[in-house]
Amino acid sequence: MENLMETLKDRLKEKGYKLTPQRRATLDTIMDNQGKHLNTEEIYGLVKEKCPEIGLATVYRTLQLLEEMQVISRINLDDGCSRYEFNTHEDDHQHHHLICQSCGSITEVEIDLLEHLEEEIEKNHDFHINDHKVKFFGICSKCR
Ligand SMILES: [Zn+2]
Ligand SMILES: [Zn+2]
Ligand SMILES: [Zn+2]
Repeated sequence: MENLMETLKDRLKEKGYKLTPQRRATLDTIMDNQGKHLNTEEIYGLVKEKCPEIGLATVYRTLQLLEEMQVISRINLDDGCSRYEFNTHEDDHQHHHLICQSCGSITEVEIDLLEHLEEEIEKNHDFHINDHKVKFFGICSKCR
């Protein structure tokens, strides 16, 4: 955890940025709420509790910066807002998301399960796959 902050500090420094308390609070908020897929407004609301002086524009720019540095990923769940999650495995394939069309809950599927498909695609299309974003829409167990 502190290691990660040190690495991030160095990487920000290389790009001419500093790990300001506001940036740190934004990242902490995303890490503390892993699995909740918070949107920009929700992140802003939580960061404000720690840094009352922070503005939405600062949070917005911080999210863009962290995304650019691949510390967090933006996920689009077709609900009209950008949601963010912490990148647990920087080089790994993204986990899949199950979206309930009734209550809107989001469940994560940790296993890739696509290895066979990826292999076929790579072979048949001479294409190297780095990642994928897979969303499944349906009805969760609580809504049936
Ligand atoms: Zn994969
Ligand atoms: Zn549901
Ligand atoms: Zn997720």
